[in-house]
Amino acid sequence: MHDVIVIGGGPAGNKAASLIADRCDVLVIEDHAVPGRPVQCTGLISDEVLELSGIRPTILNELYGANIFFPNGKSISVSSNERKAVLIDRGEFDLLMAEKAEENGVKHKYSTRYTGHAISGGAVRIATNDGTMTASMIVGADGHNSMTARTIENNAPKEYVRGIQFDIRHRADDQKMINIRIGSETAPGFFSWEIPFGDITRVGLCTSMNARPPMEYLKALLKRTGLDGHDVVRRYNGRIPLGGQRKTYGERMLLIGDAACQVKPISGGGLQPAFRSAYSLSETVSEAFDKNDLSEEFLSRYERRWKQNVGKELERGYRLRKMYTSMSDDEMNRISEIVDKEKIRNMLNSGSIDHPSDMMIKMLGHPVTLLRLMPTMIRAMMR
Ligand SMILES: Cc1cc2nc3c(=O)[nH]c(=O)nc-3n(C[C@H](O)[C@H](O)[C@H](O)COP(=O)(O)OP(=O)(O)OC[C@H]3O[C@@H](n4cnc5c(N)ncnc54)[C@H](O)[C@@H]3O)c2cc1C
Repeated sequence: MHDVIVIGGGPAGNKAASLIADRCDVLVIEDHAVPGRPVQCTGLISDEVLELSGIRPTILNELYGANIFFPNGKSISVSSNERKAVLIDRGEFDLLMAEKAEENGVKHKYSTRYTGHAISGGAVRIATNDGTMTASMIVGADGHNSMTARTIENNAPKEYVRGIQFDIRHRADDQKMINIRIGSETAPGFFSWEIPFGDITRVGLCTSMNARPPMEYLKALLKRTGLDGHDVVRRYNGRIPLGGQRKTYGERMLLIGDAACQVKPISGGGLQPAFRSAYSLSETVSEAFDKNDLSEEFLSRYERRWKQNVGKELERGYRLRKMYTSMSDDEMNRISEIVDKEKIRNMLNSGSIDHPSDMMIKMLGHPVTLLRLMPTMIRAMMR
């Protein structure tokens, strides 16, 4: 019997497993035959995420800012002298995270799919396609379509957005800036991105679930940006859970990463909140084994801890997202008129991609902006 079985060998599962392995015997079971496949991510991360990961992935490009295009075509540029993000290959990243976990003593079992679990006699019996295994507790790190999260009743995320992305053979003139586009014609309910890395441009978007299929919007975007005639080197798609889960703990069970809906609702970034939450998780697991108490009540301290750590960004981000998704294109265009000011641009320049709601609050909190935005905000919130 293992102390802990982690379900899911993505970055959240391997980060949590690495930390728990200091104290416990840990096995990670992963559905796929190799880590990091299929890739369902853009791979845009901050220096903080790089440091938290504990690995040194290949940096495909360093990004210093963004050109934000509003529905009326007007754009503002936000850039900094310091790098704001790096682009990595998520497939390689996940592989290195799994190797790092193994260095820390974690064992992996691939091609092993969790299908359910039951608790009896002070242990968790885990059913898989490859037989039954037992552990004192489990960590559900099985991603956005988490089966472990569904074992807690009434536990769906508030919503999902659907994403699609192509790597296009095209060298962008400006290698340091990302293009971000918003509006109902481009990416209803989210935004699109064009990220350069050498001779390739990574173009993608996410949309709300009630919009038309994301492929339709991507084709239109490629046409509008003149990228439709170029070779497609790689295709990706995926879903992002947003808005939080009711519970991220249960008897002999904790959830982490997308399985716990630890994703920033404004940017869709999941790696930073998952990695930070891994520390709250390992601290809780360590205490639970010390006290020999793996009850739901004892493990509930994990949720308090991770929410203290990253909950504010997630909750505030979701409130801002609700406002954003209730805005019309005209209302977004009005914001473009307001944000095109030097002072506000400076506020954005000092922001971090790990705290997108801070940037938005600073922007909206500027007295002139607030005054001019008030009617738009009230109308948007009353919808
Ligand atoms: C289009 C798109 C772009 C994104 N871009 C970014 C970005 O630029 N930066 C960022 O920070 N985040 C981004 N994200 C979000 C990010 O990819 C996720 O938040 C992150 O992958 C979450 O990690 P995880 O380990 O929780 O889940 P996952 O990476 O999904 O890993 C879960 C693992 O569990 C395994 N699994 C699932 N079910 C089972 C089962 N029953 N049994 C065993 N194993 C199972 C899966 O095979 C998978 O390996 C993006 C997401 C999408 C869809």
